[in-house]
Amino acid sequence: MAILARNLLVCFLFSVLAMFMALLWFMEHRHPTQDYSEVVERLNNNQIIRLEFTGNRVAFTDRDNHTFVTTVPDVTKFLERVQGKNIRVTVKEDRFNLIYMTIISGFVVALIMVAWWSLQRNRKEDSKFASEKLVRLSGKQLGITFKDIAGISEAKEELEEVVSFLKYPENFKKVGATIPKGILLQGPPGTGKTMLSKAVAGEAGVPFYSFSGSDFVEMFVGVGASRVRDLFKEAKANTPCIVFIDEIDAVGASRASGSSAGGQEERGQTLNALLVEMDGFGTEDAIVVLAATNRPDILDSALKRPGRFDRQINILPPDVKGRKQILEVHGRKVSLHPEVEFDDLARATPGFTGAELANLVNEAALMAARKGRDQIVNADFEKARDRILMGVERKGMVMSERDRKILAYHEAGHGILAKKLPHSDPLHKITIVPRGMALGQTQQLPISDHPAYSKEYLRSKIIVLMGGRAAEELIFKQQTTGAQGDLRTATQIATDMICKWGMSKTLGPQAFFIDSGGFIEGVGGRLPMGHDTARLIDKEVNELLCSCYDEAVRILKEEQCLLKNIAEILLQVETLDGEEFDIIVECSIKKEAAAKEDPEQSCSTCTVKENCSVAQSIGEANAITS
Ligand code: ADP
Repeated sequence: MAILARNLLVCFLFSVLAMFMALLWFMEHRHPTQDYSEVVERLNNNQIIRLEFTGNRVAFTDRDNHTFVTTVPDVTKFLERVQGKNIRVTVKEDRFNLIYMTIISGFVVALIMVAWWSLQRNRKEDSKFASEKLVRLSGKQLGITFKDIAGISEAKEELEEVVSFLKYPENFKKVGATIPKGILLQGPPGTGKTMLSKAVAGEAGVPFYSFSGSDFVEMFVGVGASRVRDLFKEAKANTPCIVFIDEIDAVGASRASGSSAGGQEERGQTLNALLVEMDGFGTEDAIVVLAATNRPDILDSALKRPGRFDRQINILPPDVKGRKQILEVHGRKVSLHPEVEFDDLARATPGFTGAELANLVNEAALMAARKGRDQIVNADFEKARDRILMGVERKGMVMSERDRKILAYHEAGHGILAKKLPHSDPLHKITIVPRGMALGQTQQLPISDHPAYSKEYLRSKIIVLMGGRAAEELIFKQQTTGAQGDLRTATQIATDMICKWGMSKTLGPQAFFIDSGGFIEGVGGRLPMGHDTARLIDKEVNELLCSCYDEAVRILKEEQCLLKNIAEILLQVETLDGEEFDIIVECSIKKEAAAKEDPEQSCSTCTVKENCSVAQSIGEANAITS
């Protein structure tokens, strides 16, 4: 309402001003104007009978009783010309200009007052404690405990101590132990930092004050700081309690870095207020501040010093065991078919965070509901995973036969290399059904999560990526844009191998690129280096990529027969899983062995016709499972 009234008032002021200007314009242009020289000529010819001065603007009336106006440059000189002629001269006070100036100034003052009034209102609204933004929940209301969290047992163990402090603070006081005032939970988005903080409050049964760092940073300097003070005032009145600050980097970014949104001064003041408040409460207050961030690298060092956020807990995406546990936790909330077990799914979701796994379970439930089933089956999880990883199937996409063929050979090339290279991850699925941005996909899945990657493994990865382009060139003697994504990924891996992980013999064990140390990918930069070094790095990257490409071509040349088989079968069935792929490889090996024994037979024996039976049986199998 207030905003509406303010807007209406501004509109009213502007319309009155516009009307006034229009009136002025009309008054000014009531009479036609004439050049000064023309007026002088008419004066000399005695055609003028009356003059009316308003400042140096003069209205003339001629013998025909026509009035016109002009501006005279020098009034005194002009009057000298008029003297002695029979002309009636009147002088009018320049009231008009006076009124004009008064009204304009009045409007300017009024507008300034409206702007000031509206700023004051905003300031008041901002500075009163934004209770809507502060989420205050009791432990019971939260309804989250450690049981709801899986896969991050180390972080849970660290926080169990906090729970017992909040529950039984006297036990700690007895021995003079102090619990950290602040604990910083750092990790990529969706790893469960917020949930874990809520679970601490839920376990301890204490109030939970939740605020986001971005809520502190406002337009007006001092508002954020006063909010911090209000927040801690309220927390101190309700001890024991948990104060949770999400995205603390929004307010706690390093003052030296100059990064972060919002005014520098406002952010600086808010951060200072936070530091002062954290220093201000003692351990007897039984307040524990938990803060979450995915950019610990940009946090101000003052925040991390002992006595403030002196304990930092890293929360990383779960490993295969953790993923299985998280899937089980979320699986309990939905209706699962007894056949569903999460071992394979956990293996098939490397790098997924807790939030992504929760989403996967929900997507699978939606798939089942869409099919009208009342229980989720394994196929729903598989489809939900594909949908999340590769996007939605582009069913309406029309491809020419030749394009489909090139695509089939492209994917078959990846698949064969994934199968043949000893250090490569096992093949999981190969498909030529376009999804999301990709036309086809070859998926590999690691048997276990890799804590570190070997040089051989990384090289195999690049060779597999080169397989698509190599197959296209080998069979069709042409290059297509389909290899764009593969080449980009391969170049990234090769650059990282040379620049980050010191895997080049020529350059030696040296890093030329540093990560920021945060949890957001792609933040970091090349270290300063000379032109020669930069050129050498480019050369090394290029050589690595070329040698991997040559290796891909060499292997595919040897396996040309198998390549044709796989591609032809893919054209018929569109998708093959790892097992089906193995059947075709075995079948091909047998045929090639037979061809060796009987030189009359050649690669032509591995034709589509004979593979039709395999394709058909696979097609039938697919029909059953779908
Ligand atoms: P963050 O604060 O790290 O961005 P959240 O705590 O908001 O992540 O997690 C979002 C959602 O993801 C949670 O509501 C929960 O459903 C799910 N989730 C994340 N991590 C876990 C976990 N370790 N166990 C169970 N669920 C999790």
